[in-house]
Amino acid sequence: MLNMTKYIFVTGGVLSSLGKGIFAASLAKILRSGGIKASIMKIDPYLNCDAGTLNPFEHGEVFVTRDGFECDLDVGNYERYTNTFAVKEQNLMMGSVYRAVTEKERKGDYLGKTVQLIPHATNEIKTQIRKAAKTTAADVLVVEIGGTVGDLESDIVLEAVRQMNFEEPPQSTTFIHLALVPTIITGELKTKPIQHSVKALLSRGITPNMLIARADVMVPKALREKIALFCNVREENVFCSPTLESIYELPLELVKQNLHERLAERMGISFTPNLAEWEALTEKTKKLSTAPAVRIGVIGKYAVAKDAYMSVFEALNHAGIHNGVRIDAELVDSEAIEKGKGTLDKYDGLLVPGGFGGRGVEGKITAIRFARENKVPYLGLCYGMQLATIEFARNAAKLEDANTSENNPDLKHPVIDLLPEQKNVEDKGGTMRLGARDVSVVKGTLAYKLYGSDKISKRFRHRYEVNPEYIKRLEDAGAVFSGMEPNQNIMKILELKDHPFFFGTQFHPEFDSRLEKPEPAFNGFVAAAKEKQGKR
Ligand code: GLN
Repeated sequence: MLNMTKYIFVTGGVLSSLGKGIFAASLAKILRSGGIKASIMKIDPYLNCDAGTLNPFEHGEVFVTRDGFECDLDVGNYERYTNTFAVKEQNLMMGSVYRAVTEKERKGDYLGKTVQLIPHATNEIKTQIRKAAKTTAADVLVVEIGGTVGDLESDIVLEAVRQMNFEEPPQSTTFIHLALVPTIITGELKTKPIQHSVKALLSRGITPNMLIARADVMVPKALREKIALFCNVREENVFCSPTLESIYELPLELVKQNLHERLAERMGISFTPNLAEWEALTEKTKKLSTAPAVRIGVIGKYAVAKDAYMSVFEALNHAGIHNGVRIDAELVDSEAIEKGKGTLDKYDGLLVPGGFGGRGVEGKITAIRFARENKVPYLGLCYGMQLATIEFARNAAKLEDANTSENNPDLKHPVIDLLPEQKNVEDKGGTMRLGARDVSVVKGTLAYKLYGSDKISKRFRHRYEVNPEYIKRLEDAGAVFSGMEPNQNIMKILELKDHPFFFGTQFHPEFDSRLEKPEPAFNGFVAAAKEKQGKR
């Protein structure tokens, strides 16, 4: 236990999507492996209050914490790297900061004062950062500041952390700046962009203690020396984050470069990282790169944006490593299936992830029917479970216009309907059934075989559910509801008999998968797909 919480602020330069989140997660991983209680917080500069209302096409998946907060996908990476569960305090979206300030102003908390970005918004940000450290009982809090230095909207966050630098005791704050060192067409690595981004940081009163050059390849010593000279950071504090075969290698790479020693020195702490288990798992992952592939079709609406389903792809990979197979998972555009394009029979398993709205729904239902009738392993997550219920209702229970009232409020057979608690909700933000809840698992079912327990706790994010009025009819036609809300007629898992693997969950199992421990539903799905592949 350290006397005082220490803070590591991670900023980004030149452009976004450089893997700052993976870097922050790797830092926490390194610290935790050495016995330091490190946790992570992400600050997003947008005016949204949470990620629930953001477009997954632009921002990637919405990750949900067990305590029901709709987060930036980086929080998913934090959970996976540190094998912990995050809480809502670990993702701050600036919309909620401004909302808190204006609400206080209306209440009269600042009576007589001019309410300003500095100090009122900056104070609110600092309060939230310190709260995140306290809630997660962190000795070291890694704070990732979203966006790129120079963006107008993140300036206020930089100003808040600049203030923290002199409010906290010496050696309690460390600034690490990660910026792109691009390779130009001649193959040369260029350092000018990182120099400019450090200048931008300096002009905001922040002197970075360490620099991370994000490059395609390892940045050679001579260039690191140049970066050090021009950016006013000692050479031994300039590191490189090269593009790696597996993203899980980054903590190992950073330790190889001795980042932990420089960090310990800077923060006045001592620890020795122990990444042996992590290293064994990443080695296993790399070895699989030449193994025969199990082909999984992920039927989605955002067919060009894999990040929109990040946890799903990660969970598939984890299960692949555990089953000793390489996963070749591909996004299939559900609208293309609707138009009759593309073949489904090349896949060893089909997966329909979560989703909203009517676009591409019939293509997903076609894929589910294909999986059911042709005995192709199927995993349906949230919407994927609801649509599997609809497909079964239409084609097995002969309820012809069966659908979800989400897409058509005037149905004869609304087999998927609104949760009663959702009926009078008007706000769109943060009003779904969110977060972890218990699910009772029925003995003697596939679900019980997978989870090995009659009670599990899983994360939810939905408004609709299987309409209780149709349960009997669906069961009579052969559907098995093997998981439900404890003591209630609310169905959470759908499975089918006489099928190698057909499993739909109202919850999101993908959020619980870890490199060290694949999630059971994914594990069972990949094992079944592997078996199918073996028979080809
Ligand atoms: N649209 C569905 C609902 O609101 C499913 C949500 C999801 O897949 N996350 O219930």
